[in-house]
Amino acid sequence: MCGFIGIAGLSGRQIAPEVYEALIALQHRGQDASGILSFDGKFHLRKANGMVRDVFSPEDMARLRGNVAIGHNRYPTVGSGSDEDSQPFYLNFPTGVGMAHNGNLTNFLDLKDRLFPAENICLQSSCDVEAILYAFAQGLQQTDVAAPMSSRFAYAVEHTFLRAKGAYSVVGVLAPGILFAFRDPFGIKPCIVGRRVSAAGTEWAVASESVALDVLGFERVRDLHNGEAFFVAPGEEPVFLRVAEQVHRPCIFELVYFARPDSFLDKISVYKTRRRFGEALAEQWREAGAPRPDAIIPIPDSSRDAALAMAQVLDIPYCEGFIKNRYVGRTFIMPSQEARTSAIRRKMNPIPLEFQGRDVLLVDDSIVRGNTSRKLVEQARAAGARKVYFASTSPPLTSPCPYGIDMATRSDFVARGKTVEQVRQEIGADYLMYLDIARMVHAAQVGNPEIDGFCTGCFTGRYPTPEAQEHLDAIESERLAAHA
Ligand code: AMP
Repeated sequence: MCGFIGIAGLSGRQIAPEVYEALIALQHRGQDASGILSFDGKFHLRKANGMVRDVFSPEDMARLRGNVAIGHNRYPTVGSGSDEDSQPFYLNFPTGVGMAHNGNLTNFLDLKDRLFPAENICLQSSCDVEAILYAFAQGLQQTDVAAPMSSRFAYAVEHTFLRAKGAYSVVGVLAPGILFAFRDPFGIKPCIVGRRVSAAGTEWAVASESVALDVLGFERVRDLHNGEAFFVAPGEEPVFLRVAEQVHRPCIFELVYFARPDSFLDKISVYKTRRRFGEALAEQWREAGAPRPDAIIPIPDSSRDAALAMAQVLDIPYCEGFIKNRYVGRTFIMPSQEARTSAIRRKMNPIPLEFQGRDVLLVDDSIVRGNTSRKLVEQARAAGARKVYFASTSPPLTSPCPYGIDMATRSDFVARGKTVEQVRQEIGADYLMYLDIARMVHAAQVGNPEIDGFCTGCFTGRYPTPEAQEHLDAIESERLAAHA
């Protein structure tokens, strides 16, 4: 998962500082690397590994001139994760085009190792946006330079859709200063368009999440449809083009875990959806006759909204029992089980007063390997809890994500091939409940009834795009070999 922003500002403005602000708002979508590409008649690029605040110096910001710019935060998926693999990327030919994306191509290795070399194209990085960029550039190159931009652009996007398989929302800049975006035919990854109107004129922006638009004072116009493309030249009206039609299958895990609660994705409020997950879980808890705890305690941060809603429906006190140290690095991507487990202990510290002599229900958004839940159940007991129940606001995760959410290989999932009772034993809880998949999907759909299905591949192993499974097999062997 990654985050991007693109802005077409009024001519004469320097827009990179605003791109920087938006990247800060999107930092949760990727802490691995960051980059900004601006355009003022030439491209200016700064990108490197690290968080936004560490990548850009005042000198870089001064150099990133121009009123059109795109920015990206990377979350690692495939590739070694070197500075060269960070985004955006650009090409001077044809026309001049720069690009960044959120997602993952399931046929990247086939494009890089077989199809592109056969066409005399040598990709330099392990980053799949480079493949999307070349596919787009190839398409553009095949068009007539004298043709209207809308038809050239639509052709280039269509050509990209034919070559690039998987999930991708793309933002880009095209010389002489056009901002563009497009969303894969299934619309798996989010992409929202915004507008800021002032006396001086109208500016346009596209982002992975609406929060990036909000912080810059852009109003939300609408999300791109699946298979839809958009471009705008500063000072002109934007053009929206429907290039491919498939079923729309946005990622449900964005709503469960990934996105910020103050964002809207495909018109769905993330915050309200998480509350509905909590309400649905409360109903399920009640219907199952599950034990009544003395307190409901969220695992910070992403489960708070759901845990509070659950507590309200069940009329059980809600309290904070774990304090998260935000400055500990990501536990999730640490290479060994030992490193992950000890980092969880440093990351989450209990408030014993909330546990002593009580039966508590810990609520988390998901259980992946089970490290967090196992460790926190242990900590709750050590802090004096009598009984420790556990609830997940999503169903058992059992299948990896081929579209860019780093999760685990199949065998890492604690719930894979196990009953709920077996997982309960693994994590050491006195009771365990997962939100049912039908209730979860319903709770998400209420936010936008026009969406008739989500990508729920990580829960079901069924993916919207046909090549996903082969890709997962390839990643799994790569990871297993790396850890052998
Ligand atoms: P685990 O300890 O492996 O069971 O991971 C579960 C915890 O990781 C939960 O607290 C989730 O909020 C969090 N989580 C779930 N998915 C991801 C992800 N893709 N990246 C980072 N953290 C995640």
